[in-house]
Amino acid sequence: MNKQNPLQPLDWAPEDLRVPEVPSSKGGMELRDEAARAAEDLAAAAADDGVSLNLVSAYRSYPYQQQTYAGWVDRYGQAEADRISARPGYSEHQTGLAMDVGAADGTCNLEQCFGDTPEGQWVAEHAADHGWIVRYPAGAEDTTGYSPEPWHLRYVGTQAAADVVRQGGVLETAWGFDPAPSY
Ligand SMILES: [Zn+2]
Repeated sequence: MNKQNPLQPLDWAPEDLRVPEVPSSKGGMELRDEAARAAEDLAAAAADDGVSLNLVSAYRSYPYQQQTYAGWVDRYGQAEADRISARPGYSEHQTGLAMDVGAADGTCNLEQCFGDTPEGQWVAEHAADHGWIVRYPAGAEDTTGYSPEPWHLRYVGTQAAADVVRQGGVLETAWGFDPAPSY
């Protein structure tokens, strides 16, 4: 999904959410079952490599996203809010198949500099092996509609993730979707 492909209906919610068994910055965050398993795989592989990842954000409901987006609009205005946040019904977090990850020590949480941390570099290199893609890479804002988010991962499965990476790392381009720079 992207700014041209919302959930239908806009307030759709998944039914197989569960809390993955991974280190998290706060309790109770949920993903769909298959994505939860992939999050557990990713966290375990990171730990094996001595990298401490934290789950920072996972499933967000339609009402929750309404609040989140409205908060950004209040703070920065709609144009800037649309670069950094999704309107309700358009957030990958509402699918239960997306998560934000961070370094366990909180360095650069949800900031561009996360990409330069050892944790961010590990994620960029290894996420696809566990079915996740960095969904909003640098240099792709005109296609994805979002400024770079090295912390935002979308679960697509290992085969699809390898395919997206092989084709340059941008989901829209790899799968032949139209660019979605705006609503
Ligand atoms: Zn995110």
